[in-house]
Amino acid sequence: MGIRKILAALLLGLIGFFVTVPAWAVEPIPVPIDADALDLTNMVEIHANAGPRLQVSTAPGADGIVRRIEVASRDGKNKSWAVFALANTSDEQIDRLLVAPYFQLVGSKLFWPDLGSSRITAITPSQGIAPTRQKSLEADVFLVTLDPGSVVTFVAELTSPNLPQFRLWEPDTYTEKVNAYTLYRGIVLGISGLLALFLTILFVVKGTVMFPATAALAWAVLAYLCIDFGFWNLVFNLKEGGDQLYRAYAEVMLAASLIIFLYAYLNLNRWNIHYSHLALTTLVLLLGLIGVAVWDPSIAAGIARLSLGIIGVLGFITIMVLAFQGYDRAIMLIPTWCLLIAWLIGAAMTITGTLANDIVQPALGGGLVLIVLLIGFTVMQHAFAGGAIAQGLISDVERRALALTGAGDIIWDWDVDRDRIFTAHEVEDLLNLRHGTLEGPARDWLEVLHPQDRDRFRATLDAVIDQRRGKIVQTFRLRSEDGHFRWFRLRARPIIGSDGEVIRCVGTLLDVTEERTAEERLLHDAVHDNLTGLPNRELFMDRLQAALAFARADGKSKPAVMILNLDRFKQVNDSIGLSAGDSILLTVARRLVRMIGEQDTLSRISGDQYGLLVLSETEPDRIVALADGLRKAVRSPITFGDREIFLTCSVGISLYEDEKQTAEDLITNTEIALNHAKRLGGDRQEVFRPILRPLGKNIIDMETDLREAIRKETLGVFFQPIIRLEDRTIAGFEVLARWNHPKRGKIAPAEFIPVAEQSGLINELGMYMLEKGAHQLAFWQRETALPRPLFASVNLSSRQLLKHDLINDVKAVLSRSSLAPGTLKLELTESLVMSNPEYSAKVLERLRALGAGLSLDDFGTGHSSLSYLQRFPFDTIKIDQSFVKANGKSARPVLLRTIVAMGHDLGMSVVAEGAESEADALELYQLGCEFAQGFHFGQAVSADEATKLLRRQPAEAHTA
Ligand code: C2E
Ligand code: CA
Ligand code: CA
Repeated sequence: MGIRKILAALLLGLIGFFVTVPAWAVEPIPVPIDADALDLTNMVEIHANAGPRLQVSTAPGADGIVRRIEVASRDGKNKSWAVFALANTSDEQIDRLLVAPYFQLVGSKLFWPDLGSSRITAITPSQGIAPTRQKSLEADVFLVTLDPGSVVTFVAELTSPNLPQFRLWEPDTYTEKVNAYTLYRGIVLGISGLLALFLTILFVVKGTVMFPATAALAWAVLAYLCIDFGFWNLVFNLKEGGDQLYRAYAEVMLAASLIIFLYAYLNLNRWNIHYSHLALTTLVLLLGLIGVAVWDPSIAAGIARLSLGIIGVLGFITIMVLAFQGYDRAIMLIPTWCLLIAWLIGAAMTITGTLANDIVQPALGGGLVLIVLLIGFTVMQHAFAGGAIAQGLISDVERRALALTGAGDIIWDWDVDRDRIFTAHEVEDLLNLRHGTLEGPARDWLEVLHPQDRDRFRATLDAVIDQRRGKIVQTFRLRSEDGHFRWFRLRARPIIGSDGEVIRCVGTLLDVTEERTAEERLLHDAVHDNLTGLPNRELFMDRLQAALAFARADGKSKPAVMILNLDRFKQVNDSIGLSAGDSILLTVARRLVRMIGEQDTLSRISGDQYGLLVLSETEPDRIVALADGLRKAVRSPITFGDREIFLTCSVGISLYEDEKQTAEDLITNTEIALNHAKRLGGDRQEVFRPILRPLGKNIIDMETDLREAIRKETLGVFFQPIIRLEDRTIAGFEVLARWNHPKRGKIAPAEFIPVAEQSGLINELGMYMLEKGAHQLAFWQRETALPRPLFASVNLSSRQLLKHDLINDVKAVLSRSSLAPGTLKLELTESLVMSNPEYSAKVLERLRALGAGLSLDDFGTGHSSLSYLQRFPFDTIKIDQSFVKANGKSARPVLLRTIVAMGHDLGMSVVAEGAESEADALELYQLGCEFAQGFHFGQAVSADEATKLLRRQPAEAHTA
């Protein structure tokens, strides 16, 4: 508040001083006759805002008289005035030019800079002719004529209180100076214009953002110089000194284009998105200044100047940081930017007036052009240094060459005439070979090539040269220094010369070692089982075919095939888990491999099935012995974790018969033999016989034949004696089906019963057997007088048990033949009963009620316990032959004894099956088993034979 009051009072006082007190007389300035220029800037009295009229006392003339003059402004407005007096002390008349430039960079200040204007409206002399205005684009120039010895006081009407420079010039010198500057300016402008144009053209050609940014900078500089040199006024026909607005624009554009350039050139958006934001805001702010400029050019220019300084400093920091990070463009910009900084310092010193001389302003203009020139060079380096490639201005040949480099292929070039192969050293490096090893005549390559690839390589090259066309596509191995081979793929084409001959072959070489090894692995995987590493079925078949083909040609070799299948492997797998199952398969594979000959092929055909192609043995006996050995190898326990697993296997064998056999035939035969071995209980080998063949093949035929056999009653009903061990008499018979096929001979029940079961024929077969058995039993019971009635047991299959009229059928049979109760027994297996316990219990109960005996067949092969089976009304159990057969080896006797005891405890009779020797019979007897059945006591025989057996019974047995 106080300060403002004081300021106002001071201002009022000043005005009062000028108005009330008459101006003092001015000191005349002597004009030397030989001086080119006289600086009046600080010698004139400035009367700032001194009103529309000014009264001054003139300088005392030669006569010493001081007069008062009054000057009025032209438009009658309040004006500033400049008063000075010139004295011509010589005795000549002198002409001089009074020059006040419109714009002065020197001392134009940073804030609210003086952007120049017309300075002097008119000059009034105290005497003589009024100075006349001279034509000039950049300054107010007045010609004054001073008479010899005169002292003239001049009052200049000013447009503003500022008169940054005011000089008195010798006219010729001034013209010279102006001319000199004009030349200089012409040169500078010319360079600047060319630069701007060139950079613009570059942009049109290259299209990278860096170029328009540089061009913009160049144009801004050009515009600035045009204005600075006064050409703008000329071109746009402006009022003298009326270009402040444009000057402000130019300065703003200078700052803005510098920012754009820096941003575009350094690709700042690539490094950090923040730069983009920063640059964009700065740009928007700067362009906003254009608006500000319209309102007040000075403010806009001030801000632009300040920004230029800030951009210079920040730009420098950014460039240095990026340069330290090794960014090429930043490094290249350093010299230019240093110059810019120097220029900025010079400019700053100039506008603040620290640097004040005549040449500084044009020098700065030139400097600006120099900077743009440098920037232009920097940018052009990018335009021509490899940059062309990125822009697609390349020929097809170049593009191909580049593509090769990009693809990483190695160029292979064979100069046929000179017989020189050229390849990049990469190949030699890959192979650790001395450089130059592979460069030379084509024959040199043969040494490095894999022996197996040499002929092919040579032949291909020869072929291409002979035929003068075609293409080399070849994969071969080259030996590396340490003896390893690497795979290379060569793809080349011949190039035909003007004489029609191949002059060179050019193409590419590619290291395909990895691809190849992967391929080989794949190939191995395709034909090998990935668990055991053994050949798979495909490879096995292939080898078998090859072996058969060889046998056909050779006539001596006899390939045999075996298929080995693990018994009950599925159960093992289910109970111990898949991974354990896998390691079992692996262990078995290892054991088997150790057993076979070198020419033999062991393969894993599927799951738990191993195929063996035997070439090492031809004698059937030896082959069977080999199979036996294999089975034994499988038999030894496999330890898995803390448990031991006992496995057995079945083997199907088929021997070479004749040359008509195909691989498929052999395999099918082997599978038939294997199935046979399985059906016979497993843990055995079977050699294929033709008799087995139709069974596996033609089930439909067999079914029809079997149906026929039942209908015609040709199906044999045989009786196998069951012996009472106590006195070795026949206690009863098991009724067994026998089929003597008219064409195929004897067929075992193990083969036709499953077929009958599948087709449903088993019901008829079962009824047939039951009827025949019952009939025969009735006959025997009538004809033979035995102390205990003879019994017969008939096998009942699962289909039969589930058939709802089984009970009626049995009832009918029983009623037709008057049999002793319980002597016609039905044999059912444990698993059959257990598959549907509730239902079975009911049916069995009804059968029992009808007077049928019930016998539990194959006891011990299932899982249920005897006590559980107590729920069913069995009267007899038949211990499976597997318990009896392996007699004397393990804990079997104990087991047998237990079963027998338990059976008795439950009130059942016990029959042991499979008594094959007297020893068996004896042991069974000692164990308390009362009945036995087995080959020792006879196989199943016809009814007549059985009758004979009964008749041969000891007499006491008949009568007792
Ligand atoms: P299965 O009921 O266990 O019959 C006993 C089988 O053991 C008979 O074989 C018999 O010949 C055989 N065998 C008897 N003693 C010995 C011996 O000391 N050592 C050896 N290794 N084997 C002995 P087969 O006659 O080949 O019958 C096989 C199976 O066919 C029978 O086993 C039975 O399940 C079925 N089967 C036979 N006939 C019929 C039938 O009429 N109806 C039904 N549903 N199944 C039948
Ligand atoms: Ca049976
Ligand atoms: Ca049995």
